[in-house]
Amino acid sequence: MSEDRFDAIIVGGGLAGSTAAYVLAKAGLEVLVIERGDTCGCKNMTGGRLYGHSLEKIIPDFASRAPVERKITKERISFLSSAGNTTFEYGSPALGAPGAASYSVLRSKFDRWLASEAEEQGAMYVCGILVDDMIVRDGKVCGIVAGEEEMEADVVILADGVNSLLSQKLGLKKELDPMEVAVGAKEVITLGEERIRDRFGLEGSDGAAWMFVGDPTAGNIGGGFLYTNKDSVSLGIVTTVGDIDYSGVSVVDMVDRFKEHPVIRPLIAGGQTTEYSAHLVPEGGFHMIPQLYGDGVLVAGDAAGFVINLGYMVRGMDLAIESGLQAANAVLYAKRKGDYSKSTLSVYKTALEGTFVMKDLRQYKNAPKFMENRRMFTKYPLLLEEILKAMFLVDGTPSPGLVKKLLPILSEADLAALGKDGMLAMSAL
Ligand SMILES: Cc1cc2nc3c(=O)[nH]c(=O)nc-3n(C[C@H](O)[C@H](O)[C@H](O)COP(=O)(O)OP(=O)(O)OC[C@H]3O[C@@H](n4cnc5c(N)ncnc54)[C@H](O)[C@@H]3O)c2cc1C
Repeated sequence: MSEDRFDAIIVGGGLAGSTAAYVLAKAGLEVLVIERGDTCGCKNMTGGRLYGHSLEKIIPDFASRAPVERKITKERISFLSSAGNTTFEYGSPALGAPGAASYSVLRSKFDRWLASEAEEQGAMYVCGILVDDMIVRDGKVCGIVAGEEEMEADVVILADGVNSLLSQKLGLKKELDPMEVAVGAKEVITLGEERIRDRFGLEGSDGAAWMFVGDPTAGNIGGGFLYTNKDSVSLGIVTTVGDIDYSGVSVVDMVDRFKEHPVIRPLIAGGQTTEYSAHLVPEGGFHMIPQLYGDGVLVAGDAAGFVINLGYMVRGMDLAIESGLQAANAVLYAKRKGDYSKSTLSVYKTALEGTFVMKDLRQYKNAPKFMENRRMFTKYPLLLEEILKAMFLVDGTPSPGLVKKLLPILSEADLAALGKDGMLAMSAL
């Protein structure tokens, strides 16, 4: 094969792209990955938690070899007012059981590791190059254009992330709708291993995942997150782009407010911010899935909108990995047939339909609409606080009894709206 012609070119050396590269190179194909960052992962961001099941299928022992930070064995969700907090915690060995384990990761390390695994299988990586365009002949994608360079392949996999300009150029995907995309800003704050264990009540290499609703986003649609790494925490905010003007608080200021919240401040005291990043995340779910294949082209990962945000958990990385695997399988099938037409590559979508990717996206198709409910971010955290205050506050005033204390709180709350939201939550989640 000539230097400028490959079996497959993959645009993007993130998780979707490197998974596809790994599988294709392992099967003996000539694969080129083009990544615009100077190294794989340097442009990428995640809150922090990778559900391991999809990568385990491809590299079964990845957790013992990859630079994962901590195994998540503790889940917390907090509803915050400006000073108060109502927190639910769930901890169980079941969270770390084989097949269900999840890990905090830092993408700059993790993506580089996955790329090196794909390179070991024979994939070629070129970093620091932006793919500007596609070579299209008679409606079929035949390669890519990067600056002055043109490179050809039987098939191109677009794994170029949420704002996939290339799939938009090909007409596979429409421009991002501001209500279907969120912006995330995150700091990695280094604290040292001992502080991480002491402050979060962790043992050994166990870790915690913590989601926050309410005060962190100042009423904007979105939330805060905190994941424990080996010796640092990943802490940040995600808020819907189309809602960004609601509170008048900028995303950067939201992160600063969050760090100053009485729940967070003592946890990060004495820490040093060692990384700052911001990134978009697709949040439209099932309804924003684009055309996933065309003549000579497939779309995977965030480029395909494969993210599920349920408020209490965010998943995109396991979907990116699974879609990279299924895209690679579709290419292998097309190679066996010697046909990379749209109709042959449609096996990609059919295969995805049989996996958790499409099944879960379909199952949670109403979640994005449900998450647009502002009461979730404004009224309900305060309502929870009022209820718990009524239960726990003792100030020497004779108590009228819990029911009498709760009645005025509940009558202030719009119970009809609460009931409706409860029903919506049940159908969406
Ligand atoms: C704030 C935030 C929190 C999140 N939290 C979680 C979480 O806790 N758990 C979870 O599972 N998911 C989470 N996600 C989602 C998850 O990070 C993504 O779903 C995942 O990164 C998608 O991987 P990908 O490979 O599809 O895309 P990306 O990781 O975005 O990779 C795309 C790659 O393509 C490259 N690229 C783009 N355009 C070009 C071009 N033209 N030429 C060359 N290279 C190009 C980029 O540089 C990048 O390396 C979060 C996302 C954000 C933003």
